[in-house]
Amino acid sequence: MRVGILGGGQLARMLAEAGGPLGLDFDFLDPAADACAGALGRLHVGPWASPAGLAAMAACDRVTADFENVPAEVLARLAGQTAVRPPPLAFAAGQDRLEEKRLLEGLGIAVAPVAEVSSRPDLLAAIERIGLPAVLKTRRLGYDGKGQVVLHSHEDLEPAWQQLGGHKLILEGWIDFDFECAQTAVRSADGEVRCYPLTRTLHRNGVLRLASTPAGVSADLAARAAAAATTLLEALDYVGCLTLELFAAGDRLIANEYAPRPHNSAHWTIEAALTSQFENHLRAVCDLPLGSTEARGVALMFNWLGAMPDRNELLRVPGLAWHDYHKEPRPGRKVGHATLVAPDQPALGSALESIKPLLDRETAALLGEFANFSRTSSATT
Ligand code: AMP
Repeated sequence: MRVGILGGGQLARMLAEAGGPLGLDFDFLDPAADACAGALGRLHVGPWASPAGLAAMAACDRVTADFENVPAEVLARLAGQTAVRPPPLAFAAGQDRLEEKRLLEGLGIAVAPVAEVSSRPDLLAAIERIGLPAVLKTRRLGYDGKGQVVLHSHEDLEPAWQQLGGHKLILEGWIDFDFECAQTAVRSADGEVRCYPLTRTLHRNGVLRLASTPAGVSADLAARAAAAATTLLEALDYVGCLTLELFAAGDRLIANEYAPRPHNSAHWTIEAALTSQFENHLRAVCDLPLGSTEARGVALMFNWLGAMPDRNELLRVPGLAWHDYHKEPRPGRKVGHATLVAPDQPALGSALESIKPLLDRETAALLGEFANFSRTSSATT
């Protein structure tokens, strides 16, 4: 079976790595000639709506995406010619932060207070209603913290408006969260849903840096996160893997956004779950039976940004798996990730000691924040 993937980045690359053993072949469509998945299938280079690219995708048995901002009309056009999974509707709703929040709210999933902002008077009225601090975000094409400015006081309005005023915007109330977490789940075409254990996540400047499981939360909170993701999958008649990103504040869970594709927070599933998110996405998309989402142990994932680590040193760390995305290093660019897997928290703690000297100062400090919770989370979900 041939799977077409819109986007040829590291997620497409890891999908193809998971799909080889399942007997699947891959075509990728990407605007970049050096798209890093290219070595693992046929790469078609061109804009999303290029006739040759669309024809190559339409010739595949299934089409999926590694990028949530593929124009929804391209997906809808392809859906008239082949099976597109997840459904174009899941992309369309997620591409506009306002629509996305309204969809989640309509399903009874709590979100931050939000207001549409098209003009300066709108912004002032929104601040009046929501208060400060708040985050001004572009409605479209925002990811990894791009297209958003945090407003702490009225003095921040003018520079924020200079930066984002030309776009359609939302103002979102600031959530003073205790921590962030992410629920990944998979749904098959016949409606079976399986949820992975909840992942605890840590972001800096809007970019995911660390992810770990177990998340160290109560069974009740974990069950509510799984229920919210299940509700969303069912409402969208979704097929494939999806991740719902959540803020945890006290015992409240507040949804931030969802990603209709495999997600960075669940990369740990490659080594530490019985079936990875990439394999389960493909199993769902290709009508194969879903695999178990159970964890094999405890795991901690590090993103590598900008520069490559010393691979030899890294590979000496017991229980560590390294994923090189074969991407040209650039400041801030995700070039790879590492996952540490151990049977339990104490074993993970000792493996962490060997990785610490290899981390840059910022990542080491972030790890300190994470270590605080993992010391207390061994008995929780
Ligand atoms: P986003 O681009 O919406 O995924 O936001 C990226 C990250 O910015 C989130 O994971 C949070 O760490 C932070 N963030 C975004 N929106 C809010 C908010 N309303 N309150 C607090 N933190 C936020």
